[in-house]
Amino acid sequence: MVYSTPSRPHDFTVPFPELKRLARSAIRLHPRNGSPQQQESSIGGPLLWPSDEPWPLCGGESHPTFQFPSHQEFNFEEPLDLVYARRAVLAERDAKVAAGEDIPSDWAIPRLEVVKERYSMANYQHHGATPLLPVLQVYRSDVLDLPFPDQYDLLQLLWCPYDHTDIHPPYNPAPLLIWRDSTVINSSIESPPLPSLVGLDNYVPEPCVLEPEEVTEYPDDRELEANQPDLSTQIDTYIDKAAMDEFSYIDAFASAPGWKLFGHGGEWGAIDPYPIDCHTCDSPMQPLITVDSAESNGNDCTWRRRDEDGAPEHVGNPPQVVIGRWYQFQVFYCPSSATHSPRYEMY
Ligand SMILES: [Zn+2]
Ligand SMILES: [Zn+2]
Repeated sequence: MVYSTPSRPHDFTVPFPELKRLARSAIRLHPRNGSPQQQESSIGGPLLWPSDEPWPLCGGESHPTFQFPSHQEFNFEEPLDLVYARRAVLAERDAKVAAGEDIPSDWAIPRLEVVKERYSMANYQHHGATPLLPVLQVYRSDVLDLPFPDQYDLLQLLWCPYDHTDIHPPYNPAPLLIWRDSTVINSSIESPPLPSLVGLDNYVPEPCVLEPEEVTEYPDDRELEANQPDLSTQIDTYIDKAAMDEFSYIDAFASAPGWKLFGHGGEWGAIDPYPIDCHTCDSPMQPLITVDSAESNGNDCTWRRRDEDGAPEHVGNPPQVVIGRWYQFQVFYCPSSATHSPRYEMY
């Protein structure tokens, strides 16, 4: 089945042609559960990683640019094995329900008790430093517009699956962004270290393959309000007059939900928009990766992909990553140089 994002139900560039110059291309990643390989773009999949390069550790010595103090005490720490085992039980239950099997409503409960016992915290120990988890890997062969084409063809994001108070934004997994030239990697690591314990299961991405798709985005209403206040007021008035209460400017037109690259990034909401400038060269930074807590804004979401017959695709949150209270985690990069540190925000 071939799915694609339907055209926008309302084109705001007709009444407001000045929006056209604010259009940006975004790449929706459409993660779907699968078994990605090192040579493929993925979320939560194995990374192509030089076998002679130390795996980054949070709180460890082996990665000099990546040392954070201890993790929040109130993290909901549990074994990584338990996270995967619990998800397997719930996936089995969902598959039975989907197949129409008549199972009791509490089918999962005794099975969850069994795995909780099997992977009891008592059997695990802290080892000091925490190996980072693979979050995202994107090859230029899948996304032609990856920046720095003369230098790199591979973008990787990892993070430490605990809340951290000493980073920005606080109470988030500590991220590490890497640009690579995959053509110089002759031998890749076979089995990277995994953390035995994780702080939050929401920070453990379930392996997904990607189906990148280009769409056009426009500034969200908070960004417009901050940077083009007159236009923002005119759009508000237009929406009121047209009594467009069946969908919003965002959902009908401006901002795609779900994991994506580029575009206008996530939607400002939990915090007000502010200029994200490079700490090295002061240039305005650009959205690079948006990590989202869901792939759509509910059943009425106009961004849900549709098949050739127009039937909407049903998809929840395949990567099972949740940021805060269903927020978005945004990676910004400096277009001047890959060596300028990325910045991160949550909204
Ligand atoms: Zn950490
Ligand atoms: Zn810069």
